Amino acid sequence: MSDTSKTVTSSNPETQVLHAGWRADAATGAVAVPIYQTTSYQFASTEHAENLFALKELGNIYTRIMNPTCDVLEKRVAALEGGVGGLAVASGQAASAMAIQNIAQAGDNVVTSTDLYGGTWNLFAHTLPQQGIEVRFVDPKDPENFRRATDEKTRAYYAETLPNPKLTVFPIAEVAAIGRDLGVPLIVDNTAAPVLCKPIEHGAAIVVYSTTKWLGGHGTSIGGLIVDGGHFDWEGNAERFPLLNQPDPSYHGAVWTQAVKPLGPIAYIIKARVTLLRDAGAAMSPFNAFQFLQGLETLPLRIREHSRNGQKVAEFLRDHQAVKSVTYPALQTDAEQKRRADTYLKGGYGGLVGFELTGGTEQGRKFIESLELFYHVANIGDARSLAIHPATTTHSQLTPDEQAASGVTPGYVRLSVGIEHIDDILADLDQALTVATGTTAKAAE
Ligand code: PLP
Repeated sequence: MSDTSKTVTSSNPETQVLHAGWRADAATGAVAVPIYQTTSYQFASTEHAENLFALKELGNIYTRIMNPTCDVLEKRVAALEGGVGGLAVASGQAASAMAIQNIAQAGDNVVTSTDLYGGTWNLFAHTLPQQGIEVRFVDPKDPENFRRATDEKTRAYYAETLPNPKLTVFPIAEVAAIGRDLGVPLIVDNTAAPVLCKPIEHGAAIVVYSTTKWLGGHGTSIGGLIVDGGHFDWEGNAERFPLLNQPDPSYHGAVWTQAVKPLGPIAYIIKARVTLLRDAGAAMSPFNAFQFLQGLETLPLRIREHSRNGQKVAEFLRDHQAVKSVTYPALQTDAEQKRRADTYLKGGYGGLVGFELTGGTEQGRKFIESLELFYHVANIGDARSLAIHPATTTHSQLTPDEQAASGVTPGYVRLSVGIEHIDDILADLDQALTVATGTTAKAAE
């Protein structure tokens, strides 16, 4: 375990990702966080075991619920986001589902932005409703749509900072303020904008991540994380949040807003850990946590480079005559969308670029098949450049109307621009565009 008395604290992301939550292994002095590949932990005494189960003291019981390697990852990402606690889980999907299931039950509802990753759309349109949780989809163009869709059974608002693949930045502060007014917490998926945006600073109550993407950054592991901002007033909105304010029969009657009060404003995140993770079991493996810790160390550097290359790719495509339209936050032509991008993204606009070829779906397919450096994969946020055609892959299970609402048109190609040399990235795009469309970038001049 870490000698936490010597942990360096900082408000700078470059330092946080290397130092938050860990100094060195107390037993061996190891500097790199060890992979604690263990299921269980020897209790010091029967009293110690009893105290841990009763949450009188926090500590390791069983790796489904907590693990020292995951613990450092949780602390690091929580520090990066300005939150009070984190929970590592098996995937980004698990993080999204649990973030809602932690406060909503059958008969309740959630209001979500329509601008979502396809997997989250399916979770909201089908699986959560099958469990009795209604999900109301609203257009975030007008933040007031969230207020209009709210009633006394609304338990959360949900959105993605930089929605994949629409890339229209979400009005975090505006919707968080409506939520504060009505007593509804805003949950933000910040997967595509780590470091560039800190949703909690803009009023979001909870942040979720697919750590599979930029946080890990190397395409090796699937994982997710939930961060509790610690500022939402669950107790002051007791009627809206019975799961946090009424005795929990699954935990000898604990009232979560009271039970862990001495440990800080962590009612939400501790309940997620000791009830939902305990019961649903979607735990992150210590090995994957180690992979994410490695990736996290270079996240601030990588995200800057992804953004720099992303911007250059977007500008290159904008100027290419075979390209009908380009989607990139920095190139938004709508004044309000541009304002949102400039307000919420700092230090870069991310690595995702969308575009449509004049020749539509067929040209799009041919373009993807002609790429040599870019990988054709169902992923984003890898250090390598990636490309995909969402309408036939990541968003193929959505109806045409649902695809349109989430920003997927038939000819849309999505790029996740990597950190290779920009000349090689542009050369690959150029040759693939020439093969697919018969036109060159030069011909556009
Ligand atoms: N959120 C966003 C924005 C995503 O792009 C994805 C996956 O692509 C997810 C969540 C789900 O993450 P995972 O694949 O780790 O379950």
